Amino acid sequence: MTSTLEIKINKIAKSRVSDYDVNNVPFGKCFSDHMFIAEYADGAWQKAYIEPYQNVPLSYATSALHYGQAIFEGMKAYKNDAGEVSLFRPIENFNRLNKSAIRMAMPEVPEEIFMGGLIELLKLDAAWVPQSETGSLYIRPFIIATDEAIGVKASETYKFIIITCPAGKYYSEPIKVLVETNYFRAVHGGVGFVKAAGNYGRSLYPTKLAQQKGYQQVIWTDSKTHQYVEESGTMNLMFVIGDTLLTPELSDTILSGITRNSVLSLAKLWGMKIEERKISIREVLTAHGNGTLKEAFGCGTAATIAQIVSIGYEGKDYDLPAVETRKFSNKVDETLRNIRKGKIKDEMNWMMKVH
Ligand SMILES: *Cc1c(COP(=O)(O)O)cnc(C)c1O
Repeated sequence: MTSTLEIKINKIAKSRVSDYDVNNVPFGKCFSDHMFIAEYADGAWQKAYIEPYQNVPLSYATSALHYGQAIFEGMKAYKNDAGEVSLFRPIENFNRLNKSAIRMAMPEVPEEIFMGGLIELLKLDAAWVPQSETGSLYIRPFIIATDEAIGVKASETYKFIIITCPAGKYYSEPIKVLVETNYFRAVHGGVGFVKAAGNYGRSLYPTKLAQQKGYQQVIWTDSKTHQYVEESGTMNLMFVIGDTLLTPELSDTILSGITRNSVLSLAKLWGMKIEERKISIREVLTAHGNGTLKEAFGCGTAATIAQIVSIGYEGKDYDLPAVETRKFSNKVDETLRNIRKGKIKDEMNWMMKVH
């Protein structure tokens, strides 16, 4: 097996970028000019190439479609005022993709394929990275099982693919969340700690039920007792109670978010009290009752910080303090945006310049 694969590049004849206003396109529906693909067969990554973004023929028997042997990552590239493109903590996404691969009996991707492919792709599609204040290029690396076979077994062939799409003005409206006490997202021994495709398909129905009741998202609770909060939608969950930042401790039912880790790192840098532990919904509501619950928010790559304005539990809504009063989460949101946009010193060395 060769450790470095030559990336064959087949450039698009004419860029489509001028057909769009990348600072204003709706998120997730318009894809950049190129995509990166690496193919795995006979126990090794065989070839790597960049092609124009396009539909490809796949057999309807493709194993990923039937049994969900599919994993993904979500990350972003940012453009500063000088037009330079940088990635935020990309090695963390690389490591997590491989953690997901192991759990789903898929081959790990070597770093030179992941990072090499990503960097080449971003160089070609740099014009697609929005430069607006809150804009970024959303990057979706994923691996799918590609055996044309209906038997339930680990595939022998895979594709690692990277596609990207501009996220112009990503602004996340404050959300009302419903504590989910019937369905669960993740179970001990399961796959909740990795970005396996099936985790998301199964979450849609409970989310739809919550939306019918007027909430935007659910707060997932532990599958055994439904007493302890875990995540909010596809984001990690945090609270500020008194002067302490609280978040559920990592376990195999909680996805180890890179935003979560970054928020905790900044809180630590700022000398804030932090507790990573089990948090019961009772504790949160008690804090609400005695006025110490100051902030609640979800955090993840897509939204960075999604403010929670109301928590629904057992037929009652608990409204939280106004978003403008939330010192910590607003400061974190702004600081992360400034680091990513190169507006303040990147003390943590989180940014990797690519172009
Ligand atoms: C991706 C994801 C997150 C957030 O992870 P980031 O690395 O911060 O984007 C949180 N929870 C779930 C379930 C996720 O899939």
